Amino acid sequence: MTIPMLDLKAQYQTIKAEIDSAVAKTIESQIFINGPVVEKLEESIGKYLGGVKALGVSSGTDAILLALMAMGIGEGDEVITTPYTFFATAGCIARVGARPVFVDVHTDTYNINADLIEKAITPKTKAIIPVHLFGQTAAMDPILAIASKHGLRVIEDGAQAIGATYKGRPACTMGDVGTLSFFPSKNLGGFGDGGMVITKDDTLYAKMKSMRNHGQGSQYHYDMVGGNFRLDALQAAVLSVKLPYLELWSAKRRRNASFYNNRFANSKVKTPVIRKENLSIFNQYVIEVEDGRDALVQKLKEKGIATAVYYPLPLHLQKCFESFGGKVGDCPVAEEAAKKTLALPIYPELTEEQLNYIADAILADK
Ligand SMILES: *Cc1c(COP(=O)(O)O)cnc(C)c1O
Repeated sequence: MTIPMLDLKAQYQTIKAEIDSAVAKTIESQIFINGPVVEKLEESIGKYLGGVKALGVSSGTDAILLALMAMGIGEGDEVITTPYTFFATAGCIARVGARPVFVDVHTDTYNINADLIEKAITPKTKAIIPVHLFGQTAAMDPILAIASKHGLRVIEDGAQAIGATYKGRPACTMGDVGTLSFFPSKNLGGFGDGGMVITKDDTLYAKMKSMRNHGQGSQYHYDMVGGNFRLDALQAAVLSVKLPYLELWSAKRRRNASFYNNRFANSKVKTPVIRKENLSIFNQYVIEVEDGRDALVQKLKEKGIATAVYYPLPLHLQKCFESFGGKVGDCPVAEEAAKKTLALPIYPELTEEQLNYIADAILADK
């Protein structure tokens, strides 16, 4: 049996007629940049997240970049974030000329440990970027309390967490700005790159709206310098078709997660911990094995099972961030996790037979 990490062809087959028609209509309209299709998606997602403002942008990465730019964060500033995330979170901080300050994560959720944040704050700190990793939000209340006490901005990197909730509040609606990615492997994925910024702050909204289009005010008059951070109408058309299915797909991922949890109960496999205040969308199902992670990856591969390691090298140890002086031992929890964690296929279309095949293969080894 061959099982990929994600089966986008299977998903497409279930909604092919709707997608093809939406794409064809957009092509007929010949409106490819902004316009009604993008605005419709912004409205739908704003409503889906409980009545917030949403702006389509070119990617999840550009969403973070745009939020930082709109907040005026740059040279000489520090931004606190997690070392255990996709590169873009910290890459954007460095790109605006600021310094990413890495704070270690919790052993259970791998999300930033708020208890360690205050120690990392200096007079240069301007913002905190918690990441809602693998589909589960960071512990937002302590983070928001610290931010408010020290006058810091909060950007929620929700690329992996659209539809997740924390104490009933949707991911991306708790901080100053939330960012989404529509990269094809996210729970809501486009047919290419795309992203969104979410905010309740009218001033930031207006600024981001202008900056996503180079900082334009009235036509060909620029009040600030932004970039081309716009979302394609073709992507918005695909995403608008997919959005109504998102809850169902995420529920199926949760069902698959429960299936694995049952199979791995009473084994040496450490299953994901979802805190009681959280509803996870399981963008990833990440297990931990005490030793032999890489050998297990190989054995599963030989049986046709794809897996992934998120992430093999924490960001404070990346070569490009060498000048920030990060060293082994700075974030011990993230460094341990990088050696022990493994993501299994969790996509909605997995069959019980496939899930059992994967679980059997792992339990044969562990
Ligand atoms: C995917 C991802 C991003 C970047 O999104 P792109 O759309 O690929 O640019 C940022 N942060 C996290 C945590 C991600 O998983």
